[in-house]
Parts: sequence; structure tokens; C-alpha cells
Amino acid sequence: MYGKIKDHLQKELAEIREAGLYKNERIITSQQKAEIRVSTGANVLNFCANNYLGLSNHPRLINAAKSALDSHGYGMSSVRFICGTQDLHKTLEAKIAEFFGTEDTILYAACFDANGGVFEPLFNEEDAIISDSLNHASIIDGVRLCKAQRYRYNNADMADLEEKLKEAQAQRFRIIVTDGVFSMDGNVAPMDKINELAKKYDAMIMVDECHSAGVVGKTGRGVTELFNIRGEVDIITGTLGKAFGGAVGGFTTGKKEIIEMLRQRSRPYLFSNSIPPAVANAGIEMFDMMAETSELQDKLHKNTDYFVGKMTEAGFDIKPTKSAICAVMLYDAKLSQVMASKLLEEGIYVIGFYFPVVPKDQARIRVQLSAGHEQKHLDKCITAFTKVGKELGVLK
Ligand SMILES: *Cc1c(COP(=O)(O)O)cnc(C)c1O
Repeated sequence: MYGKIKDHLQKELAEIREAGLYKNERIITSQQKAEIRVSTGANVLNFCANNYLGLSNHPRLINAAKSALDSHGYGMSSVRFICGTQDLHKTLEAKIAEFFGTEDTILYAACFDANGGVFEPLFNEEDAIISDSLNHASIIDGVRLCKAQRYRYNNADMADLEEKLKEAQAQRFRIIVTDGVFSMDGNVAPMDKINELAKKYDAMIMVDECHSAGVVGKTGRGVTELFNIRGEVDIITGTLGKAFGGAVGGFTTGKKEIIEMLRQRSRPYLFSNSIPPAVANAGIEMFDMMAETSELQDKLHKNTDYFVGKMTEAGFDIKPTKSAICAVMLYDAKLSQVMASKLLEEGIYVIGFYFPVVPKDQARIRVQLSAGHEQKHLDKCITAFTKVGKELGVLK
């Protein structure tokens, strides 16, 4: 019976390959960190991980995970509301709320699930969801699962957002939904303006802090710190899979009635397993580290400023960034691929992005900075970019 669909899939896969859109996975044989080893045996510098604070192999997180394996076991074999809640889960939820200055937190297996499960329990056809055009796929999917009226405004375009808010005045409740940092450009959502418009047009705000939490703001508390609106955002979603240690796990944090309702009705929470105790305990340790010092943020911000400054000086066209994402603009799709593979030969692991991941003729190489990078890593990267840039005529 498989025959017909088999042919169909083979044809479609061939088309993906021909279009140059086939995703190959490079295999890493070392820990995730600044200097990684890949399966060809080569050692390369990693500039394409979301490991913004360099915590993916931090000894304190590894030790916390190990000790929880001994004290709390390996897995929960249950969803939270049946028998999947340990003290560790409750402690981690409280630490997340403390970090963001919110009232309560609910954990998910991933932020993809947090975003997938946040809208449907809260909103119905009487309500309006007003979403940035560049929001993450998981937000788009979450909105699809909910019957609310949908409005879409152009990326970070406050005049367009205001138009959409005016159109949505007939609805019962309104919520503006945005990524904190947009992952392809590294720009930050203008939260101060969004907050003003939300007040003016009686709307709530939800921010997805996946690329901003731990990263932006002087102490890494995310966009609410950066724009000095701590406590004013109703719903924040985020991941433990990026700056916060890089393993797995997501959360929604915010107003307590909202979190309470999600525990009752959010489907990815109700019908999916608890995060493992080792992950929960490493998360607790990580938030304790964040509470002790913002050294990692200081280093990350210093690294980013240094890198962007030197690359601009070298003559590269860099998108203005307020995050740890640095988009080196090349515009040409093929050039982005050739340049990334030449950089790999120089020992620099970066990825070139082109349409449809970014708009047509906006191809680029995305560099992600980390507190795990030392200055020698940054210098090696800048030198390699400059060499390859000259070879390919990107630099004069
Ligand atoms: C990575 C990411 C997610 C998904 O997070 P996971 O925890 O890996 O599922 C959701 N939203 C945004 C904006 C992201 O960048």
C-alpha cells in the first residue's frame, strides 16, 4: 500500500534537493561550545548556536543535572496533573517568575508547545490576536489553533499596528503578539511603543523571549528590562533551549489567572510529559547563577559590540542589531552559500540564509555571538570573513 505515496515522496524530495533547499545536518562529535569537533574530524569555531551565554556545557549545570539524576531519577512517566510534578518543577517555575518579575509560570516540553498552547484556552471568536508578520512559526501555529480573529502587522511597524488595533476595537479582548528579538535580523521589537499602543487601544501584550531572554537588557532580563517595562507585559513565553543552558524545555510566565487557566486547559501541557528532573534541576541552577551575577551578559554584550564594530570597520554590511545576532548582508543567495562553505574551510562554522527563510534578494550569513567566545575566537572569525570576503569580491 506504501507504493503510491513512496513515489510521491521521492519526487517531492528530489524537487527540494533540486531547488537547493534540502537541509543537511552536520554531525558534531564534541560538546556544544565555542570550539567544536565535527564528524569529519575537523575542529571549527561555532558561530551558529543559540548558546548565547555559553552555558550548554557549563560544569554547574552538568553537576546539577547529575545530582538530580541521583536524587529524583531519570523520567517522570506522567503529565504534570496526574503524577508528573516534583518539587523541582515547582521551584523552577517560581525561579522563572522571579527572573522576569511576573506572577506565575507554567512549564512545557518546549517553547513550541508553550506558544502552541497559549491562545486557544484564553481566546475565542469574539477576540482579536494582532501578530507581527515575522513572528516565529510556533506562534503562527498557536494562533491557527484558536478561533480568534487574526490581524497581522508588518514587522515592528507601529503605524500598521495602530491601524490593526483600530480595526480590532469591535472585539471583546485584544492581544498584541510579538517576538522579543527577531532571529533573522537581530532587531528588537519596539516594546515601549507597543506598550503605549496597548494602553491606548486596550490591548494585552504577549512577548516570545526565546532569543531575548538572558541576552538583552543590562542583566539579561529580556525586553522588559531593555525598555524598562518590567511587570507590564501580560504573557511572556520562552525556552530553556537557547541562552538558558540549551537543553530542552519551555515556559509561559505572566499574570496568575492566565497561568492558572493554562494549567486547566492548555493542551500541550495537559497531554504531554513533564520535563525530566535533571533538566529541571539544571534550570534551577542556571537561574541561581543569573541571580548571582550578570558577568555573562557583560561578556556577551562586549563580544557583540567588538564583533559588530570590527566587521563594520572591515567594510561588511551589517544589519543594525540590538541582540547577539549579527546579520552579514550579502543579498545574493548563491554567494551566501559559497561564502559559508569557504568560511568552514577556514574553520568558521556559520550558516547562510536565503529565500524563503529571509525575503528575496536579502541573503545573508547570520553570526551568533556568545559569552562562550573568547577574543581570539572573534578575531579568528573576523580575519576569516575578511579573507573570504576579499576572495569573493564582497570586500573591495
Ligand atoms: C526557538 C524558538 C522557539 C521554539 O523554542 P523550543 O523550546 O526550541 O521549542 C519559539 N519561539 C521562538 C521565537 C524561537 O526562536
